[in-house]
Amino acid sequence: MRELQQLKEEILKEYPRMNEDDEFTFACHPGVPCFNKCCADINIFLTPYDVIRLKNRLGITSAEFLSKYTISPFDKNLPYPVILLKMQDNEKKSCHFVGDKGCGVYEDRPWACRMYPLGMASPAEGNPHVTEEFFFLLQEPMCKGFNEDRKLKVSDWLTDQGIHDYNEIGELFKDITLHKFFTDGHKLTPDKIEMFFTVCYNTDSFRSFVFKSSFTKKFVVADDVLEKIKTDDVELLKFGYQWLRFACFAEDTMVIREEVAEDKKKELKMRQKLPKDE
Ligand code: SF4
Ligand code: SF4
Repeated sequence: MRELQQLKEEILKEYPRMNEDDEFTFACHPGVPCFNKCCADINIFLTPYDVIRLKNRLGITSAEFLSKYTISPFDKNLPYPVILLKMQDNEKKSCHFVGDKGCGVYEDRPWACRMYPLGMASPAEGNPHVTEEFFFLLQEPMCKGFNEDRKLKVSDWLTDQGIHDYNEIGELFKDITLHKFFTDGHKLTPDKIEMFFTVCYNTDSFRSFVFKSSFTKKFVVADDVLEKIKTDDVELLKFGYQWLRFACFAEDTMVIREEVAEDKKKELKMRQKLPKDE
């Protein structure tokens, strides 16, 4: 994790910055001598939307996906939980999804796999090196794609790789991870960390929490929203982000039922009347 932090610093300070109109030379296809070599022994961070696409692609629950295909590194310096794609326990440490013909989950491959060789940096409060979004080239030594005779714009690559499908939901995740709460240096409590993990990565478990706990007795959730999030994972994730904003950042994004709010007020009054412990 520390190495990644160093790389991040290096990128922000030293890598040439590109915008969508800038060009680069690159192609990746089964004919390149390095075909599939990059799908091993690599750190691939998964976004919440990646998890949804992959678990649905594989037809398994989010809990199964998380336990079989991901690792969640513990690092006390990380402000919120992250997950990485787990590599196989073989000599090459290959990705579980790579085969002779390439990526076995190609249509639903993670955002990071689509983006390579491009990286993207976003403005984050408190980081003086990033004031606006920019792209940069990550040139891995083993990658021969840069020797191919194909010049293209950054914007062409993004379209080619289906990155635009990830934008809307990706922006909502960024609004959470780059939230002032984190950039001001606040930390989540252990129970909030768990909640963050459940909302972002364990979609099925979050759905059970919404529908099988007293959640809907405490909060007002419109019928059409409830109907959508019953089956639609992406809508559930968007709803989950609203919930995180309320629960973690104390934002006004959920409506507490009147009777619950009244009970809380009474409880508070009672407490104020009780003699204070010495
Ligand atoms: S998900 Fe696909 S593209 Fe990404 S590392 Fe695995 S095999 Fe390669
Ligand atoms: S190393 Fe580069 S060119 Fe080779 S398969 Fe991976 S991305 Fe494509």
